[in-house]
Amino acid sequence: MNVQSSPLAASVPETHADWQALAERLQTERGFETRAYLDNDFVAAVSGETLTTINPATGEPLAEVASCDVADAEAAVTVARRAFDGGAWSRLAPGERKAVLLRLADLLETHRHELALLDSLDMGKPVSSALGDMAGAIGCIRHHAESIDKLYGEVAPTGEDSLGLVLREPLGVVASIVPWNFPMMMTAWKIGPALAAGNSVILKPSEKSPLSALRLAQLTREAGLPHGVFQVLPGFGHTVGKALALSMEVDCLSFTGSTGVGKQLMQYAGQSNLKKVYLECGGKSPNLVFADCKDLERVAEHAAAAIFHNQGEVCIAGSRLLVENSIREAFVDKVLAAAERMQPGDPLDPASFMGAMVDRAQYQRVLDYIHRGVEEGAALRAGGQVEAGDGLNGQGLFIRPTVFDGVTGGMAVGREEIFGPVLAVFGFDTEEEALRLANDSDYGLAAGVWSQDIDRIMRVSRRLQSGQVFVNNWADMDQTVPFGGVKQSGNGRDKSHHSLEEYSDLKTVWMTLTPTSSL
Ligand code: NAD
Repeated sequence: MNVQSSPLAASVPETHADWQALAERLQTERGFETRAYLDNDFVAAVSGETLTTINPATGEPLAEVASCDVADAEAAVTVARRAFDGGAWSRLAPGERKAVLLRLADLLETHRHELALLDSLDMGKPVSSALGDMAGAIGCIRHHAESIDKLYGEVAPTGEDSLGLVLREPLGVVASIVPWNFPMMMTAWKIGPALAAGNSVILKPSEKSPLSALRLAQLTREAGLPHGVFQVLPGFGHTVGKALALSMEVDCLSFTGSTGVGKQLMQYAGQSNLKKVYLECGGKSPNLVFADCKDLERVAEHAAAAIFHNQGEVCIAGSRLLVENSIREAFVDKVLAAAERMQPGDPLDPASFMGAMVDRAQYQRVLDYIHRGVEEGAALRAGGQVEAGDGLNGQGLFIRPTVFDGVTGGMAVGREEIFGPVLAVFGFDTEEEALRLANDSDYGLAAGVWSQDIDRIMRVSRRLQSGQVFVNNWADMDQTVPFGGVKQSGNGRDKSHHSLEEYSDLKTVWMTLTPTSSL
């Protein structure tokens, strides 16, 4: 498979037909890379086992991908450790690491349509949204490449007879375990800072979306990343993921995924070598709309997009909408109108706002929550599953934008992370009540405040238990700000200079000098 000569990179698809044609060419002319990536080479899993990845928009199998296990994890850890100790990357001058990572970013840019297409086919997200993710992924790699040769160490404020240096050093072997909802973007958030800091990285993509990670591996090789610095092990969490997490030779686990698995990873670290564990986990994010906010139409549009973007399969989905009761009825009507414009469609159609749910299990889980919401007495105002024969392929796992009004904190739809296009609307009368409802959650990933009162905005923003607060927007942010949660949403921070701190350690070098008095 010769990546450099790939004609696919030259295509710039724009229309639905263009994307369909590109998908056809990708599958028939090129095929997918399906093997694990180890020491700059593609290899089958040691066991020879494979797993099937399915296009959830059609129900058709896409590829048989290597299903790695303990033996593959051990091999990858050995290779990654050897590369780290060899120093070809870990001891390379930061400016030279920067050059390689900038080349990688350029390659991602050149191949962004193909990578976006792989994510769309693999997990059902609209291709236009996947292309947006690519911009985030490329920006992330560039940001860390550009920062790494601008970070200085410290000289401690000691007396003249000593010198205290505070150095920043890479950790060693980093295992990055990522989910399926933003395959390329989550990967970039992890590997960008980890590689820039000089670590060797083993990436474990989700078993539901491994294809773009394997294409990325080809591009890291083309960019000139030295042997053994980057590995990709596709496979299941309970096999290869667990083996990496229990390894005595992995120095850091950086994880994005569910809170339940995050808790398991902390246990594995305790059972093995106390590796550092950085977690980006789930959420049930509150979006607070006060009656004094400006332009209800626009706010409703954003409140709907906050939950229906990426079919609701978003960690920071604004899944709890808290609306001041004096405007609630009118506001919910506007949200319903906005939701009507956000119906699911073929992921390859750039006009589709939502795509398919990632797989049948996730589809069924979301439908079960919808049934439960009805049973619990919430008012179902819109949504539910897409019936076969209404325009979308009968095999596709599509769910309509779903809105429950009159939700209370005791209901599962108002409390648990559904990870689908289901909005729970709560009413409140006072700021205190809004804050109490918002903070009554195990999670603390994101929150929104819509108001024109700056005093209220600051009061509420400070009191929201959340890693990030969006004021008069939802999820408008870029690479320059840290991203992460509090409470059971995790302990890590992706993006910005702060994420580099997770992938490096401080070392003190203390020198005793000859005292001036004895010279
Ligand atoms: P998941 O926890 O099921 O899986 C995430 C990754 O962990 C996958 O690669 C999986 O194979 C692996 N894994 C599963 N069990 C494992 C084990 N025992 N040992 C090691 N690895 C294991 O999550 P998911 O379904 O892929 O993703 C959805 C979840 O991710 C949601 O809860 C969502 O909120 C969260 N998420 C969080 C963020 C964030 O930044 N906070 C971003 C995206 C998604």
